[in-house]
Amino acid sequence: MKLRKVTVFATTALVLSLTATACGGDNKDSGSSSSGGGKIKVGIKYDQPGLGLKEPNGSFSGFDVDVATYVAKQLGYKPSQIEFVETKSADRENALARGDVKFIAATYSITDERKQKVDFAGPYLLAHQDLLVKANSDISKATDLNGKKLCSVTGSTSAQNIHDTIAPKANLREYSGYSECIAGLQSGAVDAVTTDDSILAGFAAQDKYKGQFKLAGLKLSNENYGIGVKKGDTATVNKINSALEKMVSDGSWKKAVEKNFGPANYKNEPAPKIGVIVK
Ligand code: GLU
Repeated sequence: MKLRKVTVFATTALVLSLTATACGGDNKDSGSSSSGGGKIKVGIKYDQPGLGLKEPNGSFSGFDVDVATYVAKQLGYKPSQIEFVETKSADRENALARGDVKFIAATYSITDERKQKVDFAGPYLLAHQDLLVKANSDISKATDLNGKKLCSVTGSTSAQNIHDTIAPKANLREYSGYSECIAGLQSGAVDAVTTDDSILAGFAAQDKYKGQFKLAGLKLSNENYGIGVKKGDTATVNKINSALEKMVSDGSWKKAVEKNFGPANYKNEPAPKIGVIVK
């Protein structure tokens, strides 16, 4: 028994030292030490207007982008030192485990299942799962989805909730991003798109879709957005929680909400309390 313990310790030490050697440069890049002149890599979505969007000119916009920029500043990084990386719904846990990014602000709901693999700071926004349909659609509640073509995204709580409880009899298609679902809704390939109301409102308000879609307004779930951090990186979680508290108390959170959700006419919930999850 004793021997076994020693072996395990020795192996762990070896792995740790190898990891340290292999990732020396990366650690600096992803911003795990104090900033200096280094960069910090931050995971966001690239295709969600109002939340995380890569604009045609290469700049980034959205509430998650503003939250990430504020948090990075509190960690010691100027906007010019932030390198945004796309983290799609299904990639988020792995991106953190691999150390591709220091943290993720990407409409990332805090769930018990995800907490097995990553740690979360926050929450910093409460959203709700909803349906987006064509303006003339007669789908208005979850039971209307039976046998209908419904689109959501792989690795999202939205897809999971449909399977588990909301509409197991819907014909669910899972794409890799919500922009693909919206294109499918417009072309008629799918009858409805489901995810957080915050995301759906952003798409519906885009000039190219104005007047074409409507939200059902169903509040099918509570989605507590957290900032994902590598499992065990408690120091970063604590720093991000302080940053989020400051963002609310100094008025920056409200400003970011108005700037990003105002155009979509999205009625957001009040700022959540750090560490309090609405089930
Ligand atoms: N907030 C939900 C989730 O984390 C849906 C949005 C998304 O896929 O990012 O799964």
